[in-house]
Amino acid sequence: MVMTFRSPFGDACAPIRLSASSPREVAQQLAVGRREFLRSAAGVALGSALLRPGPLFAATPQSKRKIVVITFGGGARDQETFAPEGQANIPHLMRELIPQSTFFSQVTNRGILGHYVATASLATGTYETVNNFASLPPESPTVFEYFRKQLRRPASDAWVVAPSNGFNRIGESNHRSFGAGTGARVILPKYLLSAATSGSADYGHLLRDSYETPLYAPELGGNTFELDQMEDILKLSVDDFKTHARNLSSPDELSVYVVRQLMRQLAPSLLWVTMHDIDIAHAGAFSLYIEGIRRTDRLSAELWNVIQSEPEYRGKTTLFILPDFGRDADDDSGGNGFQHHRTGDALSRTTWMMALGAGIREGVVFDQPVETIDLVPTLASLMGFSATFSRGKPISALL
Ligand SMILES: [Zn+2]
Repeated sequence: MVMTFRSPFGDACAPIRLSASSPREVAQQLAVGRREFLRSAAGVALGSALLRPGPLFAATPQSKRKIVVITFGGGARDQETFAPEGQANIPHLMRELIPQSTFFSQVTNRGILGHYVATASLATGTYETVNNFASLPPESPTVFEYFRKQLRRPASDAWVVAPSNGFNRIGESNHRSFGAGTGARVILPKYLLSAATSGSADYGHLLRDSYETPLYAPELGGNTFELDQMEDILKLSVDDFKTHARNLSSPDELSVYVVRQLMRQLAPSLLWVTMHDIDIAHAGAFSLYIEGIRRTDRLSAELWNVIQSEPEYRGKTTLFILPDFGRDADDDSGGNGFQHHRTGDALSRTTWMMALGAGIREGVVFDQPVETIDLVPTLASLMGFSATFSRGKPISALL
Protein backbone atom coordinates (compact mmCIF):
# COMPACT_ATOMS: atom_id res chain seq x y z
CA MET A 1 0.00 0.00 0.00
CA VAL A 2 1.32 3.43 -0.89
CA MET A 3 0.08 6.73 0.50
CA THR A 4 1.26 10.14 -0.40
CA PHE A 5 1.37 13.14 1.90
CA ARG A 6 2.81 16.49 1.07
CA SER A 7 5.38 17.75 3.52
CA PRO A 8 4.11 20.54 5.74
CA PHE A 9 7.63 21.87 6.03
CA GLY A 10 9.14 21.66 2.61
CA ASP A 11 8.31 22.04 -1.02
CA ALA A 12 4.65 21.28 -1.59
CA CYS A 13 5.61 19.74 -4.89
CA ALA A 14 7.85 17.20 -3.20
CA PRO A 15 5.55 14.72 -1.51
CA ILE A 16 6.66 12.49 1.30
CA ARG A 17 5.93 9.12 -0.17
CA LEU A 18 4.91 6.67 2.50
CA SER A 19 4.73 3.04 1.66
CA ALA A 20 3.84 0.32 4.08
CA SER A 21 3.05 -3.31 3.81
CA SER A 22 1.48 -4.18 7.15
CA PRO A 23 -1.60 -2.60 8.77
CA ARG A 24 0.57 -1.68 11.73
CA GLU A 25 3.02 0.22 9.53
CA VAL A 26 0.17 2.00 7.77
CA ALA A 27 -1.30 3.01 11.14
CA GLN A 28 2.07 4.33 12.34
CA GLN A 29 2.65 6.28 9.16
CA LEU A 30 -0.83 7.79 9.29
CA ALA A 31 -0.25 8.80 12.90
CA VAL A 32 3.09 10.41 12.16
CA GLY A 33 1.56 12.20 9.17
CA ARG A 34 -1.25 13.60 11.31
CA ARG A 35 1.20 14.61 14.01
CA GLU A 36 3.43 16.48 11.60
CA PHE A 37 0.51 18.22 9.90
CA LEU A 38 -0.90 19.33 13.21
CA ARG A 39 2.45 20.51 14.50
CA SER A 40 2.83 22.57 11.39
CA ALA A 41 -0.74 23.81 10.84
CA ALA A 42 -2.19 24.04 14.34
CA GLY A 43 1.06 24.66 16.20
CA VAL A 44 0.71 21.79 18.65
CA ALA A 45 3.68 20.26 20.46
CA LEU A 46 4.72 16.65 20.67
CA GLY A 47 3.34 15.15 23.86
CA SER A 48 5.39 13.39 26.46
CA ALA A 49 4.05 11.01 29.06
CA LEU A 50 6.07 12.99 31.59
CA LEU A 51 3.91 16.08 31.20
CA ARG A 52 1.04 16.22 33.61
CA PRO A 53 -2.43 17.57 32.90
CA GLY A 54 -3.64 20.92 34.10
CA PRO A 55 -5.09 21.27 37.58
CA LEU A 56 -8.64 22.21 36.55
CA PHE A 57 -10.29 18.82 36.61
CA ALA A 58 -8.58 17.88 39.85
CA ALA A 59 -9.87 21.12 41.35
CA THR A 60 -13.45 20.17 40.44
CA PRO A 61 -15.02 17.76 42.95
CA GLN A 62 -15.78 14.44 41.23
CA SER A 63 -19.49 14.89 41.87
CA LYS A 64 -19.47 18.08 39.74
CA ARG A 65 -17.37 16.78 36.83
CA LYS A 66 -19.00 16.42 33.45
CA ILE A 67 -18.08 14.48 30.34
CA VAL A 68 -19.38 15.09 26.83
CA VAL A 69 -18.49 12.63 24.04
CA ILE A 70 -19.05 13.50 20.38
CA THR A 71 -18.55 10.78 17.80
CA PHE A 72 -17.38 12.49 14.63
CA GLY A 73 -19.91 11.13 12.21
CA GLY A 74 -19.55 7.91 10.41
CA GLY A 75 -15.96 8.14 9.33
CA ALA A 76 -13.94 10.75 7.46
CA ARG A 77 -10.54 10.08 5.90
CA ASP A 78 -7.34 12.05 6.31
CA GLN A 79 -7.36 13.26 2.71
CA GLU A 80 -10.52 15.16 3.56
CA THR A 81 -9.57 16.26 7.08
CA PHE A 82 -6.05 16.30 8.51
CA ALA A 83 -3.93 16.13 5.38
CA PRO A 84 -2.97 19.55 3.95
CA GLU A 85 -5.54 19.29 1.17
CA GLY A 86 -8.27 18.39 3.70
CA GLN A 87 -7.72 20.99 6.39
CA ALA A 88 -9.97 23.53 4.70
CA ASN A 89 -12.86 21.19 5.53
CA ILE A 90 -12.25 21.31 9.29
CA PRO A 91 -11.44 24.96 10.06
CA HIS A 92 -13.07 24.87 13.49
CA LEU A 93 -11.16 21.80 14.63
CA MET A 94 -7.91 23.16 13.23
CA ARG A 95 -8.11 26.73 14.51
CA GLU A 96 -10.28 26.55 17.60
CA LEU A 97 -10.37 23.07 19.11
CA ILE A 98 -7.07 21.33 18.34
CA PRO A 99 -4.90 24.14 19.79
CA GLN A 100 -6.79 23.59 23.08
CA SER A 101 -6.65 19.79 22.87
CA THR A 102 -4.61 16.79 23.69
CA PHE A 103 -4.75 14.96 20.37
CA PHE A 104 -4.15 11.24 19.79
CA SER A 105 -3.12 10.61 16.22
CA GLN A 106 -3.15 6.81 16.25
CA VAL A 107 -6.42 5.37 17.54
CA THR A 108 -7.13 1.91 16.22
CA ASN A 109 -10.50 0.24 15.94
CA ARG A 110 -10.02 -3.55 15.77
CA GLY A 111 -13.74 -4.31 15.82
CA ILE A 112 -16.57 -4.58 13.35
CA LEU A 113 -16.87 -1.50 11.11
CA GLY A 114 -20.63 -0.96 11.28
CA HIS A 115 -21.86 2.25 12.88
CA TYR A 116 -24.14 0.85 15.56
CA VAL A 117 -21.86 -1.97 16.63
CA ALA A 118 -18.77 0.29 16.54
CA THR A 119 -20.46 3.00 18.58
CA ALA A 120 -21.66 0.36 21.03
CA SER A 121 -18.03 -0.82 21.28
CA LEU A 122 -16.93 2.74 22.02
CA ALA A 123 -19.58 2.95 24.73
CA THR A 124 -18.73 -0.37 26.40
CA GLY A 125 -14.95 -0.47 26.00
CA THR A 126 -15.12 -3.95 24.45
CA TYR A 127 -15.36 -4.95 20.82
CA GLU A 128 -19.05 -5.77 20.57
CA THR A 129 -20.25 -8.36 18.11
CA VAL A 130 -23.97 -7.60 18.09
CA ASN A 131 -25.70 -7.55 14.71
CA ASN A 132 -25.28 -4.02 13.36
CA PHE A 133 -28.77 -4.07 11.85
CA ALA A 134 -30.86 -5.46 14.67
CA SER A 135 -32.54 -3.91 17.71
CA LEU A 136 -30.18 -5.50 20.20
CA PRO A 137 -28.46 -4.05 23.25
CA PRO A 138 -24.69 -4.23 23.71
CA GLU A 139 -23.53 -7.40 25.46
CA SER A 140 -21.06 -5.74 27.83
CA PRO A 141 -22.04 -3.05 30.31
CA THR A 142 -22.02 0.46 28.92
CA VAL A 143 -20.20 3.41 30.41
CA PHE A 144 -23.61 4.77 31.38
CA GLU A 145 -24.39 1.75 33.53
CA TYR A 146 -21.01 1.80 35.32
CA PHE A 147 -21.36 5.52 35.90
CA ARG A 148 -24.88 5.41 37.28
CA LYS A 149 -24.51 2.29 39.41
CA GLN A 150 -21.15 3.05 41.00
CA LEU A 151 -21.69 6.77 41.49
CA ARG A 152 -25.38 6.31 42.37
CA ARG A 153 -26.56 8.75 39.74
CA PRO A 154 -30.20 9.15 38.69
CA ALA A 155 -31.49 8.41 35.19
CA SER A 156 -31.48 12.13 34.44
CA ASP A 157 -27.66 12.24 34.66
CA ALA A 158 -26.74 10.07 31.62
CA TRP A 159 -28.11 10.65 28.11
CA VAL A 160 -27.41 9.63 24.54
CA VAL A 161 -28.58 11.58 21.51
CA ALA A 162 -28.29 9.26 18.54
CA PRO A 163 -28.70 9.77 14.82
CA SER A 164 -30.53 6.68 13.81
CA ASN A 165 -33.44 4.73 15.18
CA GLY A 166 -31.12 1.72 14.98
CA PHE A 167 -29.25 3.14 18.01
CA ASN A 168 -32.26 2.88 20.31
CA ARG A 169 -30.74 0.13 22.49
CA ILE A 170 -27.31 1.72 22.98
CA GLY A 171 -28.06 3.18 26.42
CA GLU A 172 -27.84 -0.06 28.35
CA SER A 173 -26.59 -3.61 27.92
CA ASN A 174 -28.20 -6.95 28.64
CA HIS A 175 -25.36 -7.83 31.01
CA ARG A 176 -26.56 -9.77 34.07
CA SER A 177 -24.88 -7.38 36.53
CA PHE A 178 -27.12 -4.58 35.35
CA GLY A 179 -30.82 -4.37 34.77
CA ALA A 180 -33.35 -2.57 32.66
CA GLY A 181 -33.44 1.14 33.44
CA THR A 182 -29.90 1.31 34.84
CA GLY A 183 -28.26 2.97 31.81
CA ALA A 184 -28.71 6.12 29.74
CA ARG A 185 -31.94 7.45 28.31
CA VAL A 186 -31.66 7.59 24.51
CA ILE A 187 -33.14 10.41 22.45
CA LEU A 188 -33.69 9.70 18.76
CA PRO A 189 -34.40 13.12 17.23
CA LYS A 190 -35.53 11.64 13.90
CA TYR A 191 -38.01 9.41 15.65
CA LEU A 192 -39.38 12.41 17.57
CA LEU A 193 -39.60 14.56 14.46
CA SER A 194 -41.28 11.80 12.53
CA ALA A 195 -43.85 11.42 15.32
CA ALA A 196 -44.35 15.20 15.49
CA THR A 197 -44.86 15.65 11.75
CA SER A 198 -46.43 12.28 10.88
CA GLY A 199 -43.45 11.73 8.59
CA SER A 200 -44.33 14.80 6.46
CA ALA A 201 -42.38 15.08 3.19
CA ASP A 202 -41.44 18.66 4.19
CA TYR A 203 -39.03 17.13 6.69
CA GLY A 204 -37.81 14.30 4.49
CA HIS A 205 -34.17 15.54 4.46
CA LEU A 206 -34.11 15.24 8.27
CA LEU A 207 -35.79 11.87 8.53
CA ARG A 208 -33.66 9.52 6.45
CA ASP A 209 -32.66 6.93 8.99
CA SER A 210 -29.77 5.01 7.48
CA TYR A 211 -27.44 5.76 4.61
CA GLU A 212 -26.56 2.09 4.17
CA THR A 213 -29.83 0.19 4.43
CA PRO A 214 -32.77 2.52 3.80
CA LEU A 215 -35.16 -0.38 4.25
CA TYR A 216 -34.08 -1.26 7.78
CA ALA A 217 -36.80 -0.23 10.25
CA PRO A 218 -35.69 -1.12 13.77
CA GLU A 219 -38.09 -2.11 16.46
CA LEU A 220 -37.95 0.50 19.20
CA GLY A 221 -37.49 -0.59 22.80
CA GLY A 222 -39.50 0.39 25.85
CA ASN A 223 -37.02 2.98 27.10
CA THR A 224 -37.16 5.20 24.02
CA PHE A 225 -37.72 8.86 24.78
CA GLU A 226 -41.20 9.68 23.50
CA LEU A 227 -42.63 12.85 22.02
CA ASP A 228 -45.03 13.41 24.90
CA GLN A 229 -42.05 13.65 27.30
CA MET A 230 -40.46 16.48 25.36
CA GLU A 231 -42.45 19.26 26.94
CA ASP A 232 -42.06 17.92 30.48
CA ILE A 233 -38.39 17.00 30.33
CA LEU A 234 -36.85 19.25 27.65
CA LYS A 235 -39.30 22.14 28.14
CA LEU A 236 -39.80 22.16 24.40
CA SER A 237 -43.23 22.26 22.84
CA VAL A 238 -43.94 20.04 19.88
CA ASP A 239 -44.84 23.12 17.82
CA ASP A 240 -41.56 24.87 18.63
CA PHE A 241 -39.67 21.69 17.80
CA LYS A 242 -41.38 21.41 14.41
CA THR A 243 -40.94 25.10 13.62
CA HIS A 244 -37.26 25.05 14.49
CA ALA A 245 -36.66 21.83 12.58
CA ARG A 246 -38.09 23.38 9.43
CA ASN A 247 -35.03 25.67 9.22
CA LEU A 248 -32.44 22.95 9.74
CA SER A 249 -30.46 21.40 6.94
CA SER A 250 -29.47 18.03 8.36
CA PRO A 251 -30.19 15.36 10.98
CA ASP A 252 -27.04 16.29 12.94
CA GLU A 253 -28.28 19.88 13.23
CA LEU A 254 -31.48 18.46 14.67
CA SER A 255 -29.47 16.41 17.16
CA VAL A 256 -27.46 19.42 18.27
CA TYR A 257 -30.66 21.40 18.76
CA VAL A 258 -31.97 18.66 21.07
CA VAL A 259 -28.61 18.41 22.86
CA ARG A 260 -28.63 22.14 23.65
CA GLN A 261 -32.08 21.79 25.16
CA LEU A 262 -30.97 18.78 27.18
CA MET A 263 -27.90 20.60 28.51
CA ARG A 264 -29.91 23.61 29.51
CA GLN A 265 -32.77 21.73 31.18
CA LEU A 266 -31.13 18.67 32.74
CA ALA A 267 -27.38 19.35 32.52
CA PRO A 268 -26.48 15.64 32.49
CA SER A 269 -23.00 14.80 33.76
CA LEU A 270 -22.48 12.13 31.10
CA LEU A 271 -23.70 13.11 27.66
CA TRP A 272 -23.02 11.18 24.47
CA VAL A 273 -23.78 12.67 21.05
CA THR A 274 -23.40 10.60 17.90
CA MET A 275 -23.08 12.56 14.65
CA HIS A 276 -23.86 10.78 11.42
CA ASP A 277 -24.21 13.22 8.50
CA ILE A 278 -20.82 12.29 7.01
CA ASP A 279 -22.09 8.79 6.31
CA ILE A 280 -24.11 10.19 3.43
CA ALA A 281 -20.90 9.31 1.58
CA HIS A 282 -22.50 5.91 0.97
CA ALA A 283 -24.67 7.65 -1.64
CA GLY A 284 -21.46 8.18 -3.64
CA ALA A 285 -21.58 11.98 -3.95
CA PHE A 286 -18.22 13.39 -2.89
CA SER A 287 -19.67 16.90 -2.47
CA LEU A 288 -22.26 15.67 0.06
CA TYR A 289 -19.54 13.80 1.99
CA ILE A 290 -17.45 17.00 2.17
CA GLU A 291 -20.50 19.02 3.19
CA GLY A 292 -21.08 16.48 5.98
CA ILE A 293 -17.48 16.87 7.22
CA ARG A 294 -17.74 20.66 7.19
CA ARG A 295 -21.01 20.56 9.08
CA THR A 296 -19.68 18.12 11.68
CA ASP A 297 -16.67 20.38 12.16
CA ARG A 298 -18.95 23.37 12.71
CA LEU A 299 -21.36 21.52 15.02
CA SER A 300 -18.50 20.16 17.14
CA ALA A 301 -17.27 23.71 17.73
CA GLU A 302 -20.84 24.84 18.41
CA LEU A 303 -21.19 22.24 21.17
CA TRP A 304 -17.86 23.30 22.62
CA ASN A 305 -19.16 26.86 22.70
CA VAL A 306 -22.35 25.71 24.42
CA ILE A 307 -20.19 24.02 27.06
CA GLN A 308 -18.42 27.35 27.60
CA SER A 309 -21.66 29.30 27.85
CA GLU A 310 -23.70 27.06 30.15
CA PRO A 311 -22.83 27.69 33.82
CA GLU A 312 -23.46 24.01 34.69
CA TYR A 313 -20.74 22.96 32.22
CA ARG A 314 -18.21 25.78 32.00
CA GLY A 315 -14.85 24.94 33.58
CA LYS A 316 -15.82 21.46 34.78
CA THR A 317 -16.40 19.60 31.53
CA THR A 318 -14.07 17.47 29.46
CA LEU A 319 -15.06 17.01 25.83
CA PHE A 320 -13.94 14.01 23.77
CA ILE A 321 -14.29 13.99 19.99
CA LEU A 322 -13.52 10.87 17.93
CA PRO A 323 -14.85 9.06 14.87
CA ASP A 324 -16.29 5.56 15.19
CA PHE A 325 -13.92 4.51 12.36
CA GLY A 326 -12.64 5.75 9.01
CA ARG A 327 -13.43 4.98 5.37
CA ASP A 328 -11.70 2.90 2.71
CA ALA A 329 -8.53 3.96 0.91
CA ASP A 330 -8.73 4.96 -2.75
CA ASP A 331 -6.22 2.36 -3.82
CA ASP A 332 -7.77 -0.66 -2.14
CA SER A 333 -9.15 -2.76 -4.96
CA GLY A 334 -11.74 -4.33 -2.64
CA GLY A 335 -13.48 -1.01 -2.03
CA ASN A 336 -14.70 2.12 -3.70
CA GLY A 337 -12.66 4.80 -1.88
CA PHE A 338 -14.44 7.34 0.30
CA GLN A 339 -17.88 5.87 -0.39
CA HIS A 340 -17.85 2.91 2.00
CA HIS A 341 -16.06 1.18 4.87
CA ARG A 342 -16.15 -2.36 3.64
CA THR A 343 -12.57 -3.49 3.21
CA GLY A 344 -11.47 -3.30 6.85
CA ASP A 345 -8.17 -1.82 5.63
CA ALA A 346 -5.77 0.05 7.90
CA LEU A 347 -7.00 3.44 6.74
CA SER A 348 -10.56 2.68 7.81
CA ARG A 349 -9.35 1.34 11.17
CA THR A 350 -6.87 4.07 12.10
CA THR A 351 -8.63 7.08 13.52
CA TRP A 352 -7.88 9.87 16.00
CA MET A 353 -9.26 11.36 19.17
CA MET A 354 -9.07 14.73 20.82
CA ALA A 355 -9.81 15.65 24.41
CA LEU A 356 -10.21 19.21 25.61
CA GLY A 357 -11.51 21.13 28.54
CA ALA A 358 -11.16 20.60 32.27
CA GLY A 359 -7.99 18.81 33.28
CA ILE A 360 -6.65 18.43 29.73
CA ARG A 361 -3.30 19.77 28.55
CA GLU A 362 -3.64 22.11 25.60
CA GLY A 363 -1.89 21.85 22.27
CA VAL A 364 -0.14 18.48 22.48
CA VAL A 365 -0.24 15.51 20.17
CA PHE A 366 0.57 11.89 21.00
CA ASP A 367 1.20 9.34 18.29
CA GLN A 368 1.58 6.31 20.55
CA PRO A 369 -1.08 3.75 19.64
CA VAL A 370 -4.29 3.62 21.63
CA GLU A 371 -7.51 1.79 20.83
CA THR A 372 -11.09 2.94 20.57
CA ILE A 373 -11.96 0.66 23.49
CA ASP A 374 -9.59 2.69 25.72
CA LEU A 375 -12.10 5.54 25.86
CA VAL A 376 -14.42 4.00 28.47
CA PRO A 377 -11.73 3.06 31.02
CA THR A 378 -10.30 6.56 30.55
CA LEU A 379 -13.67 8.15 31.28
CA ALA A 380 -14.02 5.83 34.27
CA SER A 381 -10.68 6.95 35.70
CA LEU A 382 -11.51 10.61 35.18
CA MET A 383 -14.94 10.34 36.80
CA GLY A 384 -14.02 7.95 39.62
CA PHE A 385 -15.63 4.65 38.71
CA SER A 386 -14.39 1.36 37.34
CA ALA A 387 -15.15 -0.10 33.90
CA THR A 388 -14.86 -3.63 35.21
CA PHE A 389 -15.65 -5.59 32.03
CA SER A 390 -13.91 -3.30 29.53
CA ARG A 391 -11.02 -4.78 27.57
CA GLY A 392 -9.40 -1.38 27.07
CA LYS A 393 -6.85 0.50 29.18
CA PRO A 394 -7.03 3.99 30.65
CA ILE A 395 -4.97 6.40 28.55
CA SER A 396 -2.25 7.53 30.94
CA ALA A 397 -1.55 10.77 29.08
CA LEU A 398 -5.00 12.01 30.12
CA LEU A 399 -4.87 10.98 33.77
ZN1 LIG B 1 -21.43 4.00 6.94
